[in-house]
Amino acid sequence: MWTWPLFYFAACDLGYYKSSPGDQLCSKCPPFSLSDTLASQICECDTNYYRCSTDPPSTACTRPPSAPINLISSVNGTTITLDWSPPRDTGGRRDVTYNVICRRCAWDAGQCEPCGGGVRYTPQQMSLAKTSLTVANLQAHMNYTFWVEAVNGVSDFSLEQRMFSTVNITTNQAAPSQVVVIRKEKTAENSVTLIWQEPDQPNGIILEYEIKYFEKDKEMQSYSTLKAKDTRAVVTGLQPSTRYVFQVRARTSAGCGRFSQTVEVETSKGMALRYDTMTIVWICLTLISGLIVLLTVIICKKRHCGYSKAFQDSDEEKMHYQNGQITLAESKVYVDPHTYEDPCQAVRDFAREIEASRIKIEKIIGSGEFGEVCYGRLKIPGKREVPVAIKTLKVGYNEKQRRDFLSEASIMAQFDHPNVIHLEGVVTRSKLTMIVTEYMENGSLDTFLRSRDGHFTIIQLVSMLRGIASGMKYLSDLGYVHRDLAARNILVNSNLVCKVSDFGLSRILEDDPDAAYTTTGGKIPIRWTAPEAITYRTFSSASDVWSYGVVMWEVLAYGERPYWNMTNRDVINSVEEGYRLPAPMGCPTALHQLMLDCWQRDRNERPRFSLIVSILDKLIRNQEHLKLSSTLNRFTHPRLDRGLFDFASCATVDDWLDSIKLGQYKDNFLMGGYRSLGMVMRMNINDIRRLGISLIGHQKKILTSIQIMRAHLINTLGPRMHL
Ligand code: AMP
Repeated sequence: MWTWPLFYFAACDLGYYKSSPGDQLCSKCPPFSLSDTLASQICECDTNYYRCSTDPPSTACTRPPSAPINLISSVNGTTITLDWSPPRDTGGRRDVTYNVICRRCAWDAGQCEPCGGGVRYTPQQMSLAKTSLTVANLQAHMNYTFWVEAVNGVSDFSLEQRMFSTVNITTNQAAPSQVVVIRKEKTAENSVTLIWQEPDQPNGIILEYEIKYFEKDKEMQSYSTLKAKDTRAVVTGLQPSTRYVFQVRARTSAGCGRFSQTVEVETSKGMALRYDTMTIVWICLTLISGLIVLLTVIICKKRHCGYSKAFQDSDEEKMHYQNGQITLAESKVYVDPHTYEDPCQAVRDFAREIEASRIKIEKIIGSGEFGEVCYGRLKIPGKREVPVAIKTLKVGYNEKQRRDFLSEASIMAQFDHPNVIHLEGVVTRSKLTMIVTEYMENGSLDTFLRSRDGHFTIIQLVSMLRGIASGMKYLSDLGYVHRDLAARNILVNSNLVCKVSDFGLSRILEDDPDAAYTTTGGKIPIRWTAPEAITYRTFSSASDVWSYGVVMWEVLAYGERPYWNMTNRDVINSVEEGYRLPAPMGCPTALHQLMLDCWQRDRNERPRFSLIVSILDKLIRNQEHLKLSSTLNRFTHPRLDRGLFDFASCATVDDWLDSIKLGQYKDNFLMGGYRSLGMVMRMNINDIRRLGISLIGHQKKILTSIQIMRAHLINTLGPRMHL
């Protein structure tokens, strides 16, 4: 008779298990598990290894994952995007998901609290399957810390702390939130008094409120607006017995918030008034004399004072003529400290004095015109210690140098914008005179980009440019003209936020290594400066826009020197002839187009900073437009119709000569044996003379064009290309 072999009924050994009694074979314990008794039905997991309820006994035991890696953040106003890579160790499971924890940290106190409701997470905050997330509705100008933890099906079994990566960010500015509570306080025959509450999230200092109103159902035909500094306004000049619709919105330096819901109010019934001719004449006379008095006051106000207010090229309306009333809009302007009789008074008026004992200098990080720039820490009583940059005035200075040094502080002290370097204060009452500013971890933009060639996405580069444009918009709205806007004068912090810096006036003349003397006197950074500012010294916000175009180019070319190794004279000549820098490698056409717009010869044709900010915002929102142009050629010249040089389409020496309008020398080049552009590009001034071209103007034009072709070629093939 056949019998079952004995081993079929034997109990499982140590290290083996059989999930149910029966004739099946014992199985070896899966990885990270062990059976330490005979006849085990399941293998127990090793210490710190687990099985979740859905894992069959045959699966390996697993453990919680390690932390996500490469966590990076990008900040856009009050929205941030977090991106990370999966953990190196998934714990042996495939069900890794991520949770994001948000904490908000006050600037001064150094305490953090949960971000609370109101913050929007897309797609969601917990159990994220993807390795990225957007967090919106954060508060402006606030420090946040985000913890991103990786979890898997067995994380809940572990008593050990979860593994996470963290990132600290500071949000930028944002427009205020909507005004939500608005009500009527009083109505009269011709007026309505409204009151409302400040928006929940002002996101900065509210500069004014705007009240929009119109007759009900007539919005399409016309509406009026009125500005108010407070949360109350009397809207006058209304028709009696008429229903009006009102809306209010707040404005900060970051822009306007959304209009409130509409509120309808009907004015009271009118009492027909009759005036005789005499009364009308009296009313008119009173109004006219009132107007004259007002205008006299305005004129006097403008003339008085020991200083003048520089106000150039700003869009700000100075007056609002509203329903027969003139109200003065209090637009803030920048005060040039050099117009003070005693510039030290400007420092006292604007900048905060810091006691030297509050500052700990830790290391030298750079050198400025007046002395070393150091890294250190500032501890103001009742506030958190903050890292700072400290500019020092070298010993042996004279009084003028000290005044010039401190003038930068009195300029900087007037600014308050997230894309403009922030002044903490000055030390003037100690032996060492110092200017203390916020610390920017990544230093100046040009060096930073050069050290990270090709590292950033186009969105990151455009976000940096957007920040710079926003800072410049703020400065130009205040009437401040920078005159030396260049990547070397932009500082970058650890969140890639770019801030405009370098406000010393004397530095334009003395310090900047890129500045050169012009025939009209004065030293100017030629490569960054608009032609009218070089020739006539007419600096304006429009000339800052030109420089901004060059900064765009520097950013997209990762800190390449504008116009490469061309001499300043050649740069001036070639710009004069209509040549413009070509699109850097990988630069989307839309961005090069914006650069070309900034480089319009006619400064009135250049976009203003407000337009540049909104164009960049649109590009960030609609990234389709940031795709590269279809052509592989990097030298896209969309403005050929405006007389720019079309190097890309020149195939032959004849084409090239035609394009620079020197076709009369075709034979000279042919006779000289120059049959290709490659040969032409190796020519020097003596070769050109040898061709019998005697006019100096033509020799120079040919040489400039050759230099530009070389520069183009270096840009295409890289600096290692030799001609
Ligand atoms: P400046 O005199 O402003 O041109 O400063 C000289 C150098 O010091 C700059 O190029 C930066 O590398 C460094 N620096 C100046 N200010 C700061 C700052 N706020 N944070 C970090 N580095 C700074």
